[in-house]
Amino acid sequence: MKEINASEFENEITLGKKVVLDFYSSECPPCEALAPKFEALSKTYGDDITFLKIFRQKNKDLADKLGVKSSPTLLFFDNGKEVAERLSGGIKRSDIITHLDSMIPVEKVEAIKSQLKPSVSDFDVIILGAGPGGLTAGLYLCQAKVNAVMVDIALPGGHVSTTHEVSNYPGFIEPQAGYMLSHNMSEQTKQCGTVYKVAVDVTKVDLEKKEVVIDEFETLRAKRIIIATGTSPNFTGAPGEKELKGKGISYCATCDAKYFVDKEVVVIGGGNSAVEESDFIARFASKITMVHQFNKLTANKQAQEKLLANPKISVMYEHEPRSFTKEGDKLVTEVEDLKTNERKKLISDGVFVFTGFKANIGLFKGNLELDQWGYIKTNEDMRTNIDGVYAVGDVISKKYRQITTAVADGTIAAIAISKELD
Ligand SMILES: Cc1cc2nc3c(=O)[nH]c(=O)nc-3n(C[C@H](O)[C@H](O)[C@H](O)COP(=O)(O)OP(=O)(O)OC[C@H]3O[C@@H](n4cnc5c(N)ncnc54)[C@H](O)[C@@H]3O)c2cc1C
Repeated sequence: MKEINASEFENEITLGKKVVLDFYSSECPPCEALAPKFEALSKTYGDDITFLKIFRQKNKDLADKLGVKSSPTLLFFDNGKEVAERLSGGIKRSDIITHLDSMIPVEKVEAIKSQLKPSVSDFDVIILGAGPGGLTAGLYLCQAKVNAVMVDIALPGGHVSTTHEVSNYPGFIEPQAGYMLSHNMSEQTKQCGTVYKVAVDVTKVDLEKKEVVIDEFETLRAKRIIIATGTSPNFTGAPGEKELKGKGISYCATCDAKYFVDKEVVVIGGGNSAVEESDFIARFASKITMVHQFNKLTANKQAQEKLLANPKISVMYEHEPRSFTKEGDKLVTEVEDLKTNERKKLISDGVFVFTGFKANIGLFKGNLELDQWGYIKTNEDMRTNIDGVYAVGDVISKKYRQITTAVADGTIAAIAISKELD
């Protein structure tokens, strides 16, 4: 795969070629998650489509000219013309394939598909999700000589890898960069010998049979499954949000705050994530307007005090976003005053959304017993209601969702499983 710079761009995308171009950044977990998929697909589709990548931070003018506002962003060209919808953020392998397939004749697609051979492999335990909960379970299982495979739709690390600083994980005197803490957790588990299948599409999960299909053609079978899939950010649901996701609306400050140097930003939310991440975005942006539905912030007191003392940040209490639109380079957030129903327009260079989380259980709802908020119910050994299926970390029904509590859950499930399999 070729790496290009801005001066080569015009030449590379024309000349009758079909091209997919990856705008990536450094310190960008979704970019790292994409890289192995992109590399693998370049080998499968390389005869028909040219795979290129370009470092966004060093080619900022070109990125701005093309309207690329977040990393990674994939652009698809046929003889210089964009021919498919852009993909950005946590990009799925299947979405890239759909786009690539639309660019080449059907018979070529069939020939490529026929090269992919289905495979089946057996393990003692499949761990779904490589955040702190899953990684800790993997470490304990590995040290107990239990054969486990770690499966993640992204790179290992979970939320910690996109948290800029963690100051409350025991054992470190100074605050730790989240990506380093998660990197160290992952390396510790990997070096023990746990098998990793990360940055994959999880196509199907059969909890009863203990089977997981990844990337459509690889089946993993096991005696036990640990669900450690954590949570995902909520969308506001306001019109325009989906369309502008990755085109000015972001859900990851670590990934995208650096693109807002001396720019004005709107942050939606007022809980812990919104407050902590606004503090981080303020290192770059000149002005932050937070839009919060309640009459006071709901983050912890210390974080609130720091935020309210920051002259760059102001909070619009009791307001909610009603729509997002684009006017030229600017993003227009229409907000409603919940007391007066008056609507106002906030003009900014970008919007960050931090409005809470929901459990990642979409693939395996089935017969799993959930609480009223959609989190998985477990007993004290982390067993779910399905025989041989455990759940740990943020995805389970519990009061406090922290790295330490996820790590504790992973420990308990792994020890319980090791004893059972003994
Ligand atoms: C902005 C922010 C700041 C935070 N700051 C702190 C802090 O300072 N201190 C602290 O203790 N806690 C903090 N937390 C909370 C902490 O990050 C979480 O409690 C912790 O990461 C939970 O770990 P987990 O393993 O359960 O889930 P996650 O960290 O969410 O990891 C889940 C993993 O599962 C993967 N996954 C999702 N769906 C699937 C699927 N279908 N198949 C396979 N894999 C899947 C995801 O890609 C992810 O890697 C913060 C959270 C956020 C969002």
